[in-house]
Amino acid sequence: MILSKVLEEFNNCREKAISGRYILPEFITNFVENLPEEFTVSIEGNSVEKRPIYSVKFGSGKTKILMWSQMHGNESTTTKSLLDFCNFLQKNEHQKDVKNVLKNCTFFMIPMLNPDGSKMWTRNNANDIDLNRDAQDLSQPESKLLRQIFNDFKPDFCFNLHGQRTIYGFEKTGKPSILSFLAPSANEERDFTFSRKQSASVITHIFKNLQDDLSGNIGLYNDAFNNNCVGDAFQEAGVPTILFEAGHYPNDYAREKTRAYIFASLWYAIEACQIDISYPVEDYKVIPEHSKCYCDIHISNDSTSKIQYVETVEDGAIVFTPQPLDSDLGSGLFAHKTVDNASGFKLM
Ligand SMILES: [Zn+2]
Repeated sequence: MILSKVLEEFNNCREKAISGRYILPEFITNFVENLPEEFTVSIEGNSVEKRPIYSVKFGSGKTKILMWSQMHGNESTTTKSLLDFCNFLQKNEHQKDVKNVLKNCTFFMIPMLNPDGSKMWTRNNANDIDLNRDAQDLSQPESKLLRQIFNDFKPDFCFNLHGQRTIYGFEKTGKPSILSFLAPSANEERDFTFSRKQSASVITHIFKNLQDDLSGNIGLYNDAFNNNCVGDAFQEAGVPTILFEAGHYPNDYAREKTRAYIFASLWYAIEACQIDISYPVEDYKVIPEHSKCYCDIHISNDSTSKIQYVETVEDGAIVFTPQPLDSDLGSGLFAHKTVDNASGFKLM
């Protein structure tokens, strides 16, 4: 399916009850409980604060795809796209492309792995543990649950769905990193093992289909091996895993634009998984690695003045508080917005 068609489908299937950044656990409960019976909805377990962690299963094909979102509570964009994707599968189950996907694939989705962090708008869970550094210790109920599902479901592919801060971009071009991906390493040597090659091939397929719309805005995450990270641990276990990172589209702090492109990325990733597309690793390696080279605001009449928003939750909404960066830290950073002076400019 060509990208314009996928984005049109996104517009038709976008879950209208959910927008912006702050997705409460209750929204997920409400969404999954209203899914039709073709979707198998289960409570897999509970978080530290005893919130239910839901799974949604759909499709009956031999290619098993496990996806989980919001293991970091303050990374909600991919969760929105995942719900949109459920709507898309549901509304188009008789359409040829979707019918093939459902015949070829079985999906196991966990829309919100860290409901406590999502409620508090924190990266970590309620015990202040980063679930993406707990893949070996499995010290937290959420980590244990994901590992158990991985062991039982035996996926052929894993999609590890995250969101990245506004700080990422490309030094050479000055462009922001709107989407980034990673075929995590399976060992210290960062070898392209069989499963890592498969992950890279899926990412290449996404990249080739999105690069015209997001020219110069798609990057790779750093591939240093750390098997405390879930993606690396699953890749080490031989299951091709793909890290998705939803980033910042210019002026879109609600991340509704990125939501559409993550939806499209999911579609192309699934297309690549089911039809066994195989691109050479060299095609993956040409995707540039992004770096931390951006901040939110540059105040142009003061060359040292760079600002980064700090996000907190107040009265049920995300509040973006501008925080000046040290001049050492700020110098050389690109900014998403340039303003003339510090007094009287509108921050958002
Ligand atoms: Zn994350």
